[in-house]
Amino acid sequence: MEQQFTRRGFLGATAAAPVALQAAEERPAILGGKPVRTGGFPRWPIVGQTEEPALAEVARSGKWFRGSGKQVARFEEAWAKITGAKYCLATSSGTAALFTSLNALGIGPGDEVLVPPFTFVATINVVLLQYALPVFLDTDPETCQMDAGKIEAAITPRTTAIIPVHYGGNPANLDAILAVSRKHKLRVIEDACQAHLAGWRGRNVGNWGETGCFSFQESKNLNCGDGGAIITNDEALMGRCYSFHNQGRKWKGGGEEFSYASVGCNLRLTEFQGAVLLSQIARLEEQSRTRERNAEYLDSLLREIPGVKPQRTYPGCTRHNHHTYVFRYLKEHFAGMPKPMLLKALNAEGIPGRPGYSPLNTVPFIKKVLEGPAYRRLFSKERLAQWNERNQCPGNEQLCRESVVFSHQCLLGPRTDMDQIAAGVRKVQAHAAEIAKA
Ligand SMILES: *Cc1c(COP(=O)(O)O)cnc(C)c1O
Repeated sequence: MEQQFTRRGFLGATAAAPVALQAAEERPAILGGKPVRTGGFPRWPIVGQTEEPALAEVARSGKWFRGSGKQVARFEEAWAKITGAKYCLATSSGTAALFTSLNALGIGPGDEVLVPPFTFVATINVVLLQYALPVFLDTDPETCQMDAGKIEAAITPRTTAIIPVHYGGNPANLDAILAVSRKHKLRVIEDACQAHLAGWRGRNVGNWGETGCFSFQESKNLNCGDGGAIITNDEALMGRCYSFHNQGRKWKGGGEEFSYASVGCNLRLTEFQGAVLLSQIARLEEQSRTRERNAEYLDSLLREIPGVKPQRTYPGCTRHNHHTYVFRYLKEHFAGMPKPMLLKALNAEGIPGRPGYSPLNTVPFIKKVLEGPAYRRLFSKERLAQWNERNQCPGNEQLCRESVVFSHQCLLGPRTDMDQIAAGVRKVQAHAAEIAKA
């Protein structure tokens, strides 16, 4: 379509339109203005060409269980290779990987296990399922990871293990965590459920502790609906993990069909899930690179906005896998807006920021579990009474008040998506006083 502008008409249009346009464009969406963005973000999971034939093949083969098929074993080999670990065991979930690790390491009733409060509940549940006491370490708000400087003060003679979580795919401060853990002989179980290709000093996370645990639940950067894996470089430990996840059956040599070496459970991955993982794994590296590129660009845009602090990494981090993208906002730069209001204003602009975790150290259900008969039998009154005082996490509270979290699929689109996220934050900030008043 051709448009004819006379000089007069053009001037007339520019004189009147921009004011109206500006008003429409700049009015915050939450107050009835036009949103910065109306399109969606990439959907997740991504279904490619290979999943369906791979699933059909497993279905036709009639080999649906890891004991009869080859998919799970092939996946284990592939995941060990990608992560650089000697051994990999697939499990039915990330929770199962953590639970198996605790069992194989003999972490159990009466023990204390150090955990972060800024994590998914599974990290804590596995400790409680073992009748051990989860002791919360404070969070470093700058990185969203456990504050390694506070570990030593939390250790007692009963502390046997620590579960660092590489929250969001950003490695926890492994140098400091490993140094204190060695000194006090703590077992280290890395919760790498969100950290599929994350690296520390050039080596994949999950390789630094006794075991590293991954999740392949649907929301994770590598997924098959539900699934998990343990990696380790300790052969004997792998044997114990295998036995526990498969009803106490021996790892190698198998033994008799109905012969059992130890207590166990059924936490096996199925062949269907193995096949989906083998499809998904082929795209993992490329997707990760896209996320990294976009996250780096978004960091550079957000750093320019006063009162906006993108998540930091520790110097040892050589790869952040961006399961989430997190920034903190400082209220005083946003007219004192509380987080729910900020999120509502951002969401209205089409920017899908979410609140992220609430503090796990204060959830009532844990207290209730500790007040139950099992814990009262296992732990003295004094120890249970001290538990509350030991779990003060001011850094974590600050992070929970200030964090705005984006899921990883927001980083899978074009670079212009990042421009729009930043534009949304800038717009909400420019109108913060007006929004806060409304
Ligand atoms: C997802 C997740 C888990 C649990 O994994 P599932 O596969 O859902 O059982 C554990 N820890 C963290 C940090 C997670 O994000």
